[in-house]
Amino acid sequence: MKFKKFCATLLIFAHASWALQSARADTLNIDLPDIGDPTGTLMTPQQEAELGEAFYRSLHSQMEISQDPEVLDYIQSIGEKLTSNSDNPAQHYTFFVVNEPVINAFAGPGGYIGVNSGLILLSEEESELASVLAHEIAHVTQRHLYQTFQAASRLSIPTAIAMLAGALLGARAGGQAGMAAIMAAQAANAQYQINFTRDNEAEADRVGMQILSKSEFDPRAMPTFFERMQQSTRFAGNRMPEFLMTHPVTVSRISDTRGRAEQFPYRQYLGSMAYQIIKAKLRVQTAPNPRAALDYFKTVSGQGTRVQQDVTAYGLALALMKNNRAEEAKPILQRLMMSYPDQPQFVNALASAELDTKNYAKAAQIYDMALQRFPGNQALSLNYIRALLMTRKSQPALKLLHSYSRYHKPTPEVYELMAQAYSQMGSDAESHRYVAEAYYASGQTKAAILQLKLAKRTAGDNFYLNSVIDERLRDWLAEEQAKKKER
Ligand SMILES: [Zn+2]
Repeated sequence: MKFKKFCATLLIFAHASWALQSARADTLNIDLPDIGDPTGTLMTPQQEAELGEAFYRSLHSQMEISQDPEVLDYIQSIGEKLTSNSDNPAQHYTFFVVNEPVINAFAGPGGYIGVNSGLILLSEEESELASVLAHEIAHVTQRHLYQTFQAASRLSIPTAIAMLAGALLGARAGGQAGMAAIMAAQAANAQYQINFTRDNEAEADRVGMQILSKSEFDPRAMPTFFERMQQSTRFAGNRMPEFLMTHPVTVSRISDTRGRAEQFPYRQYLGSMAYQIIKAKLRVQTAPNPRAALDYFKTVSGQGTRVQQDVTAYGLALALMKNNRAEEAKPILQRLMMSYPDQPQFVNALASAELDTKNYAKAAQIYDMALQRFPGNQALSLNYIRALLMTRKSQPALKLLHSYSRYHKPTPEVYELMAQAYSQMGSDAESHRYVAEAYYASGQTKAAILQLKLAKRTAGDNFYLNSVIDERLRDWLAEEQAKKKER
């Protein structure tokens, strides 16, 4: 009901502004793209990838994107498990987690798929989380958002971003900027629309369920989770989760999905331990305060299976650390590490507890040992680098950072670590340059340009560095120029 109302308002608004904007376009004699020639306006995969990157960067300045390597690693691995069983396994996807209690998930251009921590925490089985990801992947493989992306690609980047935020994340994220973007999109004669029609949703459910089943998750988790999301509305003071606004779930849709799920052979799916571990971690990270995290894990302590009890113990240890009680967390983590030698998260947390209590040598020793057991593990590598920088061992830290970023796309936090390492070594120009990259990666181009100018001032006659700085400066200034033109 709510969704329909939302859509209708949007439609009326769009029509009204359309009339207004086309009149204005006439008088200003703006050169509008010709939509009579669809082949001339197609977006290339390259354009879509660029749009996706810009969208992803800008999200960092609007919401808290998790930079926790264990969280990222988990969501990417479950995402890849699903995409490898989709119709188009060659397409590149980036999965990420937004630390927000609102229940939402969305697919952006270029295969960027985001899921809110609130949705992960609402799920009770790994298959439930997988079902939402599979549904989003299906929106991508079935090109449901292509028209929206194509419309956005004809706008300047900042307007395109605002428009996408409004369309994909719901009205809340778009806000005023969203409305302005819709008007701009109309002015550019773009066919703006929210694409999740009933048909799109049914198709995403159907294709998503096939992906789910091929990936050996339980297809029955999809209707179960839809139902839980719908029920959660009652507890959220009648506020509809954003996911249900952009992907309306009706009673008939749930029963259709249930009917379809029943056609798949029953298969018992035992969720991974990593799923439970990441949920416990997110619960601590997104708790309203440290005390609340501790209270939660004390309350659920001793419930469920042996494994569940141990994951609760892990959550309790993290909560203790968040309450500056790392000393009490250590014996818990030591026990978990011994019981589950295949879970890198426990040894990682133990090393963090050693860092928290300033036992740097001990922490380094644990990381060293753990990296031999889990070579290339992202979280262990980054935390080891942090430990090295805490003791001002910038040379080995930098070496590890460079080899790390050869294999992983750096997050803003990784760029900050690089800046810190160079700063410790007295290389101010390099340090400013990486602070600039950190700003740029988090959608703050203006601040990034400022840092680059500082880098330029201290770069001296380092030819290589100068040319890197000049190239970045040229690109970013051009982007800012495009933004100004819009106003
Ligand atoms: Zn959907």
